[in-house]
Amino acid sequence: MRKVTVIGSINMDLTVTTKHVPDKGETVLGDTFATFPGGKGANQAVAAARLGADVSMIGAVGADSFGEDLLSHLSKEGINIRGVNTIPNESTGTATIIIHDGDNRIIVAPGANHHLTPFHIERNEALISRSDVLLVQMEIPIETIKAVSMLSDKYNIPLIVNPAPYQKLPQAVLKQATYLTPNQSEARLMQADDAWIDQKMITTLGSQGVELSATGEVIHGYPVQALDTTGAGDTFNGALSAKLSEGADVKEAIRFANAASALSVQKIGAQSGMPTLEEVKRFRQ
Ligand code: ATP
Repeated sequence: MRKVTVIGSINMDLTVTTKHVPDKGETVLGDTFATFPGGKGANQAVAAARLGADVSMIGAVGADSFGEDLLSHLSKEGINIRGVNTIPNESTGTATIIIHDGDNRIIVAPGANHHLTPFHIERNEALISRSDVLLVQMEIPIETIKAVSMLSDKYNIPLIVNPAPYQKLPQAVLKQATYLTPNQSEARLMQADDAWIDQKMITTLGSQGVELSATGEVIHGYPVQALDTTGAGDTFNGALSAKLSEGADVKEAIRFANAASALSVQKIGAQSGMPTLEEVKRFRQ
């Protein structure tokens, strides 16, 4: 037990802080620049790995220096990257984040992430078949998610679908998903599209915790002083999958994931705030 396979995006986040946002045709001098590993898939894989799961990643990067850096970063986190493909003549996915006056403006260029195809899923069928939990998000093509859901069905492996950023999912994926993990706004969009899926929804409510939409039961989060909530959802999904892969009951997995994400919001950055298993254990004592 404990094998989690994450199928999803891998990005380099490029952040620049500036006092002035340029107008059309204008060039301004910014303040600071930094790069951070990101992408929902990679973030969730890192969260699960730090929490003790045996994590494999299936994804795609470009044949460029960002791709090389991200692969070595994932390896250092103890993640098996044999399922990550390098796509020739494509750039690695990036998120360019302009931070001005406390607000973010973000442009995502998916690059190689959009070249992760059903072919790459089929090629990794053996790896997928040995998994205890499969975890996907929506920064990769829908037909690739569909291919994952078919293998989840074939090998009877629980599938967690984090519908972020939200797009309407095929009925086959919704039917096969064991759990859907929207945040509140994604949950509203999903319920408008497919009212029947309530029974599978674990809806995250920010600082309030989580609602099991089937019953309306709320599993409360931990009251903490939040410094930066970036990556709270990714920590939650990685932690939930890690705990479910051990065979834990879903409510215990949610309590564990609430604790992990409450720790993550107390630090700045997505991956930099993700806790280790020891930190979560200490926090829950
Ligand atoms: P983000 O997009 O910021 O990564 P999200 O919108 O996907 O997050 P949220 O519902 O905001 O997801 O948060 C996910 C989980 O993180 C919550 O269910 C909760 O357990 C935890 N969490 C988020 N914000 C806080 C907070 N301020 N205090 C404690 N826990 C929090």
